[in-house]
Amino acid sequence: MSSDIFSLKLGLNSCYLIRGKTTIMVDGGMPNKLRVFRRKLGRLYIHPEEIKLMILTHSHFDHAGSAKAISELTGAKIVIHESERSFLENSEFAMIKGVNLYGKITLAVFRPFFKRISFPKVKADIFINEKVYPLYEYGIDGKILHTPGHTQGSLSVLLDTGEAFVGCLAHDGLPFRLNPGFPIYAQNIDQIKESWRLLIDKGAKIIFPGHGNPFPVEIIRKQLFS
Ligand SMILES: [Zn+2]
Ligand SMILES: [Zn+2]
Repeated sequence: MSSDIFSLKLGLNSCYLIRGKTTIMVDGGMPNKLRVFRRKLGRLYIHPEEIKLMILTHSHFDHAGSAKAISELTGAKIVIHESERSFLENSEFAMIKGVNLYGKITLAVFRPFFKRISFPKVKADIFINEKVYPLYEYGIDGKILHTPGHTQGSLSVLLDTGEAFVGCLAHDGLPFRLNPGFPIYAQNIDQIKESWRLLIDKGAKIIFPGHGNPFPVEIIRKQLFS
């Protein structure tokens, strides 16, 4: 069964709602975005209670910033990788490095701010330890995959129809990149490439990044094998 996909920008973060038999959400937006979230949900005629699960691709403030408020409103269970648990519970920033020159320069400028930005601490309900976590019991034909590289516990959601929601495994558009591709910030670029190989191997076709607009996987395939 194919799912309906809705894109929802909460600040810099492109969040996504995936509706199968239930609705799940990928990422929780920047801090203080509950009002925006409610308004956008209303425009889509989606009731907050429909959302059963909120999968955080990782614990950075721009993806987990409104997770607490949104989960309180919707009742959605929060899902995160076990290794990101303490960052989420303590509102801490998992360190990353600049991948290219632009990433190195901007990170040097922004790192002190990143470290200071806090978001409401929140406890997740489900911790992912395994490489593959199926979503069928939530009425979604797809799975969560452990795709480390940007951070150690980065997760992606892959639908059986090929749509992949990858958080910061890709960046697309300003202020990060001019065009879609590998992230400019990562803990380990080799792991990023390995995670992409996994996603392509598992059937990823259309990429929905945590920042920017969807793009075809061929763009990554070219960068991976160039
Ligand atoms: Zn991040
Ligand atoms: Zn991000």
